[in-house]
Amino acid sequence: MTVEGHEGGCLCGALRYRISSRGLALTACHCTDCQRSSGSAFGMSLILLRDSVQLTQGTPRTFTKEFEDDGRLKHNKFCGECGVRIWTEFSKLPQILNVKPGTLDDAKWLNPVAHIWVRSKQPWVPIPDGVLSFETQPADFGIVLKAFADQQAHAK
Ligand SMILES: [Zn+2]
Ligand SMILES: [Zn+2]
Repeated sequence: MTVEGHEGGCLCGALRYRISSRGLALTACHCTDCQRSSGSAFGMSLILLRDSVQLTQGTPRTFTKEFEDDGRLKHNKFCGECGVRIWTEFSKLPQILNVKPGTLDDAKWLNPVAHIWVRSKQPWVPIPDGVLSFETQPADFGIVLKAFADQQAHAK
């Protein structure tokens, strides 16, 4: 879905960005990396084509980490002032960005269609009815893309 004026930024306001689409998928990840990096129970990922994300202010810093399973690199882009991560880029999927959607000015429309790495979720976190749930990484991410497309087709 193409959108107008979806903007976001870090906590101090040094970094600002704009997205021109609601993206390809929205997931909640319960892996231990996401728990640590969010300082919370899970991380949310809004997956977008890189072309639909535009940095409008500031220069992010980069923290690069390897995925433990296969050595892919993820480049976390964050604010050097306030430390907030705004998105992640992937060495093997350069056309994709993973925006941290809690940094959007309007986060009310966000509703993850899939919960992943559920095997390491904190025990108090319920998985809502009617969403996809995966013990680890989905083997076929196409299911997640389709669920998000269906959700957005029914959104106003
Ligand atoms: Zn900042
Ligand atoms: Zn994760």
